[in-house]
Amino acid sequence: MVIVMQAGASEEDLAAVLDRIGSLGLAPHVSRGEERTIVGLIGDERPVEDGTFEALPGVERVVRILHPAKLASRDFHPEDRVIELPGGARLGGQEICVMAGPCAVESAEQLREAAEAVRANGVKVLRGGAFKPRTSPYSFQGLGEKGLLLLREIADSLDMAVITEVVTPQDVPLVAEHADVLQIGARNMANYELLKSAGSAGKPVVLKRGLGSTVDELLQAAEYLLAHGNEHVALCERGIRTFETATRFTLDINAVPVLKQLTSLPVVIDPSHSTGHAPLVAPIARAGIAAGADGLLIEVHPNPAEALSDGAQSLDPAGFASLMDDVRRVAAAVGRSSA
Ligand code: PEP
Ligand code: MN
Repeated sequence: MVIVMQAGASEEDLAAVLDRIGSLGLAPHVSRGEERTIVGLIGDERPVEDGTFEALPGVERVVRILHPAKLASRDFHPEDRVIELPGGARLGGQEICVMAGPCAVESAEQLREAAEAVRANGVKVLRGGAFKPRTSPYSFQGLGEKGLLLLREIADSLDMAVITEVVTPQDVPLVAEHADVLQIGARNMANYELLKSAGSAGKPVVLKRGLGSTVDELLQAAEYLLAHGNEHVALCERGIRTFETATRFTLDINAVPVLKQLTSLPVVIDPSHSTGHAPLVAPIARAGIAAGADGLLIEVHPNPAEALSDGAQSLDPAGFASLMDDVRRVAAAVGRSSA
């Protein structure tokens, strides 16, 4: 951290800053220039709250050097992290990890058809929502525990891992009992009590970026999971809210290489929720892989026209098979592989 003093700052102002630094157990490095004095902090600045120095008289501005998300940072863990999942899937490895299935578990028949369709294309991770965070209280809210049991049973029969969303801290033990990967949705990215519970649940987590959250906020949310003992965390760019209305959200493609630079956690994209339109899912999936994403989260429904949620963005089995062909080609072009 560097503290830039105002041009007219007095010696008393500087002394107060140095005192404050000492009281935090850090050491100062003072550099007196012709117009400004700047003070560098020696030691770990990350626990220093924003505003600690800004409020002192004579301080012009404060520049942080280290990202507050220490455990999530690539500085802390330079090598790419890989999350091994039951059934042989690897999230973050050389192979693109595709997680696919319906938006919501609706029935045994619907889930089985979707699961068989994605499994037939090499997918090893079945997605499906049992607890659905819906914008309207009148929309289908998911089957709850029954949905979890269906996910487990059908995934086991196809030798697949299960990823499903958990929406409250109280549900974490139940979801962790049946799922292999906990999904924290965009609407809950900054639900810190949920992050703490998921951090200590002992299962990998895919953390989705909030629709109005910055990359920094996403990394700090991931830090909660890591700080609570969970090393198996992947990040998901699922589109942010912009002024554009042609698509449901705007996939921030920049976030993919930015996150890969800042962190060694696996990064996946969700082109289903970001676009909101099935015909746009494959082009954006291709772009995400070309930009360096480690995986995809894709909604697939045996009959999208009858889906209880997100039918417009769900691929049917034929559309999904064609997307997987694209994924294989783009993966190969960027030195990756795909099932
Ligand atoms: C989902 O993937 O099921 C979902 C609800 O997505 P998001 O949290 O990104 O809206
Ligand atoms: Mn959905």
